[in-house]
Amino acid sequence: MPVDPAPGDPARPEPTAVVPPGDGPWAGGTVLSSVTAPAAVLSTPCAEVDPADPTVTALARDLVATMRAAPGCVGLAANQVGVAARVFALDVTGHPKARSCAGLVVLANPRLVAASQRKKGREGCLSVPDLTGDVARARRVTVAGVVPGRGEEVVVEADGFEAVAFQHELDHLEGLLFLDRVAGAHALHARRTYL
Ligand SMILES: [Zn+2]
Repeated sequence: MPVDPAPGDPARPEPTAVVPPGDGPWAGGTVLSSVTAPAAVLSTPCAEVDPADPTVTALARDLVATMRAAPGCVGLAANQVGVAARVFALDVTGHPKARSCAGLVVLANPRLVAASQRKKGREGCLSVPDLTGDVARARRVTVAGVVPGRGEEVVVEADGFEAVAFQHELDHLEGLLFLDRVAGAHALHARRTYL
């Protein structure tokens, strides 16, 4: 199966989801300042949260607002705004590299259920402004987590760029940056454009 089929290739699935205008229930958050490496909170495994806690829902809204305010940012974990809690927001809608697209995904206590088709690719991070790195990640994943405020567990299947983005955010919650995943200094590059 081709991993990165050309645009127009019949094997290339069209992005399926569209973010509702204004991000629906996740609108109205506050744009927070993000922290950059080597801030200790980025290297700290985050704590499980109570998804029913209104402060978790508020944090999730702030993550969405902060992600939207950062050009090119497709995902943001809570410790990137200094809060060591297991919550992230992710949205690859409209990204040219996106294959699958679940739209805006906000998860508490997320976990990787399945992963396959590992391949190396370039990635960047809001918390590592000056570098990109070559990281081997699965191109097909299943992620489960709880939607803050709703309490229901959702399961998301993703492939390609979105799958990589999920793993990148899950890593943040474990206190890992892409810098911890590269094979060595040769796999790091000065950043010219955002991921
Ligand atoms: Zn990141």
